[in-house]
Amino acid sequence: MISREQMYERYRKSSPISGDLYQQGAEVLLGGTTRTSVYFEPYPLYMQRGVGACVWDEDGVKRLDFLNNYTSLIHGHSFGPVVEAVRTQAQLGLCYGAPTKGEIELAKILVELVPSVQKLRFCSSGTEAVMYALRLAKAYTGRDKVAKFEGGFHGAHESVQFSFGVGLDYSENLDPIPTSAGIPASWAEDVIVLPFNDQKAAEDLIRRHHQDLAAVIIEPIMGSGGVIPATREFLSSLRAITEEYGIVLIFDEIMSLRTAPGGVQAQCGILPDLTTMGKIISGGLPLAAFGGREDIMALLDPRGKDPLIPHSGTFNGTVLAAVAGAAAMSHLTPEAYTRLNDLAASIAQGMERLFKGLNIPGTVTVGGSLFNVHFTDREITTFRDVLTGDMDKRSRFFFGMLHRGVFLASRGMGCISTPMTEAEVAAFLEAAEATLIEDILEE
Ligand code: PMP
Repeated sequence: MISREQMYERYRKSSPISGDLYQQGAEVLLGGTTRTSVYFEPYPLYMQRGVGACVWDEDGVKRLDFLNNYTSLIHGHSFGPVVEAVRTQAQLGLCYGAPTKGEIELAKILVELVPSVQKLRFCSSGTEAVMYALRLAKAYTGRDKVAKFEGGFHGAHESVQFSFGVGLDYSENLDPIPTSAGIPASWAEDVIVLPFNDQKAAEDLIRRHHQDLAAVIIEPIMGSGGVIPATREFLSSLRAITEEYGIVLIFDEIMSLRTAPGGVQAQCGILPDLTTMGKIISGGLPLAAFGGREDIMALLDPRGKDPLIPHSGTFNGTVLAAVAGAAAMSHLTPEAYTRLNDLAASIAQGMERLFKGLNIPGTVTVGGSLFNVHFTDREITTFRDVLTGDMDKRSRFFFGMLHRGVFLASRGMGCISTPMTEAEVAAFLEAAEATLIEDILEE
């Protein structure tokens, strides 16, 4: 096992230009970045280009990209049809203060694909999609409270800035814990935190608060929290109890939409009232969406009477992202999803074999084409299980894989893109074996 200092030294040696860019970047950007998740010590890698399954950093080092901009590039980098659509559109103008055919085309694809979505609207980020879905739920029900799950991540809106991520004091009870400074305590009064995959406890809490609850929001596959699928029974129980009490059920499928045509809802046949979508739907450009039941979405209709929800956003459904998204989504066949999911399953099986063979406590959770490596023996069904993992080993795994040509999220999450084949899976497992033996195994 190498020391952490040796590991950092090895990293610095292979990335001097990134090191220099970091110095420059940190003069003007906090931590040299504009996104907390992409920062890591001693400094992040600065990327220069990507093609297919590979990215090159500014030092010219090529790696297999299993991160795919946090799961959004389902076709990998510079996918031909997306680049072509963007090029064609760019020659016609970049954006206009008016709707476009591009938006309609992408909306049609999504309405066709995602079974619960009758009408939708575009926005620029998943954070906004969640914000509007929650606002719709509050306006529709006339209630103020929102229930979210412990460990669930839904972007940066105040209502959902509670009880996710490492480093919080997850005590025995489920009181909402703010994950950010600057969230007034009054927001916590309108948030109920529910336990994930625990039907009875979740139902009890929903029952207790039902009169005030506008929405229950859930990632059907908890993504950032460690790629943990909700069981079908659990989703089904949430559907039943929210229906019983007239609470709006929101599936945040921003990440899970890549796991099956139409997302988890299509796969398991449980339909929420509203759905948030993002990542893969825009082909790699900034765009997200929220949609669902026509009677709820009608509150956004500019032709409607009160109560009307104004929907602003200079770049909502911006045409470059819309045409990129339509190109990406129209090239995703049902067979493509199956193939991606099979490759993720191969990674998990290969990793489980390595963990067992080397006697290292570890497991890989999988949700469709998403996967997360964890250094724990525990079966993972909640975020608290993720927290039992060895975080030092997880970080060593990340650096070891970087060193051996594989780019992942620093928290051990990865995903498959359509240019990948068994060869990329084999390369991943080869890098993982060397990392486990040389960088992690204790002598
Ligand atoms: N919800 C989920 C499930 C997500 O994974 C993310 C992004 N990781 C968001 C919401 C927020 O999306 P964005 O980063 O586009 O604001």
